[in-house]
Amino acid sequence: MAEQSVPATAREWHLKARPNGWPVPSDVALVEAPVRAPEPGEVLVRNAYLSVDPYMRGRMNDAKSYVPPFKLDRPMDGGAVGYVVASAAEGFEVGDAVLHGLGWREYATFPAKHAVKVDGSQAPLSYFLGVLGMPGMTAYAGLVAVADIKEGDKVFVSGAAGAVGSLVGQIARLKGASRVVGSAGSAAKVAKLVDEYGFDAAFNYKDGPVREQLAAAAPEGIDVYFDNVGGEHLEAAIDALGVHGRAVICGAIAQYNDTEAPAAPRNLVQVIGKRLRLEGLLVGDHAALQPRFTAEVAGWLKDGSLHYDETVVDGIEKMMDAFLGLMQGENTGKMVVRLDA
Ligand code: NAP
Repeated sequence: MAEQSVPATAREWHLKARPNGWPVPSDVALVEAPVRAPEPGEVLVRNAYLSVDPYMRGRMNDAKSYVPPFKLDRPMDGGAVGYVVASAAEGFEVGDAVLHGLGWREYATFPAKHAVKVDGSQAPLSYFLGVLGMPGMTAYAGLVAVADIKEGDKVFVSGAAGAVGSLVGQIARLKGASRVVGSAGSAAKVAKLVDEYGFDAAFNYKDGPVREQLAAAAPEGIDVYFDNVGGEHLEAAIDALGVHGRAVICGAIAQYNDTEAPAAPRNLVQVIGKRLRLEGLLVGDHAALQPRFTAEVAGWLKDGSLHYDETVVDGIEKMMDAFLGLMQGENTGKMVVRLDA
């Protein structure tokens, strides 16, 4: 049996105060804390990659939601992949790679029933936080189960160069979309959407009104809108959607740091005349799709029909910078923090 190693202490990020608007450095602290050896049924994991995700901003608020708020003066949590370094659980050996929910820290001790073994020979470990993990499943479930995507659909996705959005556009195409349009926040991202991800058209939402840019990029309108942004984007998409159009309401990142309610959409009345369906998506509702998702997406990755990008930030001390960078568009593809560079 491989040697078990339990360090005396390790670092973890605590929430110290609830942000008002954009988080500031004093809202969080990187704390040195004791590491606990596993008790029967538990494993100790040394994290290799930590995920930063937009939904974490909502968890910094003390507001009722589908995930509970982070507790003050306690470690924050989120997706992580790492290696078992000590095990008191049957079926888990030192060296096993696992996916789990105790991110924002270097080491985590927890019941092994909350660890999912992943196969690092199938894909790089960090991919299980992205294309083969929660964001990938979000894109897949949103298109397949919520939008009920059909051959020939014209699809628009916002946040199109991010983890979820970049996969939405490509999966839509693989599922037979006739036109795929994306919006993103820089010229470099827009170029990547068209040149590398195969979008038919893309625009920088900072260059002018979304309504006008979308009308130019999708002159015949759209059938499906995958919303990662909300606000002005959603309003423009409601205008562009045709009769019986569908909108997957996945995220509203434009307003996560706002202190005022959003001004848009102001055109919801169109839902009636066009018989639109706007449906919220929670990835956790779609666990039954997991085998189909894994088979299809892993296959597309392997045969090169799906491009996947990551933005990797090194060091746990940079975790909050990575999170804020994600909220400001510093990432292309999935933003992850690497601990064992
Ligand atoms: P991501 O797209 O990789 O990163 C966030 C991106 O949002 C940034 O790169 C930035 O790109 C963009 N952004 C930031 N502020 C913006 C603004 N004011 N207007 C337009 N774009 C803005 O993040 P992700 O993990 O893939 O998540 C994408 C969305 O899906 C988020 O809204 C998230 O909350 C949601 N989500 C929902 C579920 C669910 O189950 N419902 C699951 C996962 C994710 P630009 O440079 O293009 O601005």
